[in-house]
Amino acid sequence: MDLKALYSISYGLYLITSKDGDQINGQIANTVFQISSDPPTIAVSINKQNLTNDFIKKSGLFAVSVLREETPISLIGQFGFKSGRDMNKFADVNYRTTPRGLPYLVDDALAAIEAKLIQDVDAGTHTIFIGEITAAEVLKQGNPMTYAYYHQVKKGSTPPSAPTYIKKNERRNGMDIYECTVCGYEYDPDKGDPENDIEPGTPFEKLPDDWVCPVCGAGKDAFEKID
Ligand code: FE
Repeated sequence: MDLKALYSISYGLYLITSKDGDQINGQIANTVFQISSDPPTIAVSINKQNLTNDFIKKSGLFAVSVLREETPISLIGQFGFKSGRDMNKFADVNYRTTPRGLPYLVDDALAAIEAKLIQDVDAGTHTIFIGEITAAEVLKQGNPMTYAYYHQVKKGSTPPSAPTYIKKNERRNGMDIYECTVCGYEYDPDKGDPENDIEPGTPFEKLPDDWVCPVCGAGKDAFEKID
C-alpha cells in the first residue's frame, strides 16, 4: 500500500468557525465539500480534539470562509497552529458575522457560507459535520487557495517537476534551508520572509533573535537545518 497515493487528492483551504454562547472560535481545514444541492448541504471534517469541534456540537452551527490565494501565511498559522483554548484567535482579525452570529473573514475570504448542523458522523479521530446551508455570500473575486498552492507556493518550496526547482543541497550562495520542527514550515534564505520584513537573501543565522516561525509562531530554536 502506497499512501503517497493520497497526496494526489486535491483540496481547498478554509476557515471553519463556530460559537458557544458569545464565545467564537475558528480553525483552518482543508476538507469542505458540497454534498447535495436540494437542499444545499455541505460537509466538513474536524478533529475531535479541537475547540471548534466542541463549539459546532454545542451550537449546531458552523460557517466556512473560503480563503483566497493571497491569504497571508501568518493568518493561516494563527488559525491553524494555535488553539482557541489559549487565546482569542479573532482579537486582531477583521471579521463580520453571519445572520446566526458566526464570524467570517472580511479581507481574505472569497465567500462565506453558514450552515445548520443536520448530522454528525463519528469518523475516529475526526467528526464529519453535515450542515444545511442557511446563508451564503460572495465577497470577492479571485482564486481560491488550494491545499497544493499553500504547500508549494506559500511555504516557499517548489515541486521537483517544476522548471524552477532547485535541489535543496545545491542552493546558490551556499545558504542553508531550515525547517520548523513544530509545523514543517521551511525557511528559504533565497526568499526570506517578506511578510515580516525579512529580505530575500537573508541567511537563517542572520535572522533577528526575536524572529518567529511565520506559520506557527515557534522561536528560532525550534528550527533545524535541512541536510
Ligand atoms: Fe512553525
